Amino acid sequence: MPNKNNNEFMRRAIALSEKASMVEKSGGVFGAVIVKDGEIIAEGYNQVIRNNDPTWHAEMQAIREACKKLGTHHLDGCILYTSAECCPMCLCAAFWAHIDHIYYGARVEDAKKYGNFEDIDFLAEIRKDPKDRKVKFTELLRDEAVVVWNKFSEMPEHVHY
Ligand SMILES: [Zn+2]
Repeated sequence: MPNKNNNEFMRRAIALSEKASMVEKSGGVFGAVIVKDGEIIAEGYNQVIRNNDPTWHAEMQAIREACKKLGTHHLDGCILYTSAECCPMCLCAAFWAHIDHIYYGARVEDAKKYGNFEDIDFLAEIRKDPKDRKVKFTELLRDEAVVVWNKFSEMPEHVHY
């Protein structure tokens, strides 16, 4: 659904990207906000360097805070505004969270060009056959792992994700 405040929300995400990278120097040039019913309910900015946490991306923080605030792990009806195109981790986090719509500012090509961020390389890695990826990816003890899945599926009221 078009929202007349789209630009305002994106400008807040962009301001957070500047805060992260140049004011607080907590991490890369990334900021994000989550909007529900026309209001910002959560914000995030990159804090990978400050916290030595490679997962502390703006979108991850915003998703965590929005879920906490709403008391759910699903964000149906929410819109994510992110100052730069999502990396695969954050894109999947948005999928897990059932975000309805993602607006992004800069593209992964911009993150590579101006900051040498690897998002675009990771996207290329994911598209490769697993045997051709840089990180080895090997199935091991599937039978034993599936025993737990089997027990889980037979629990009368197992959690649905
Ligand atoms: Zn990310």
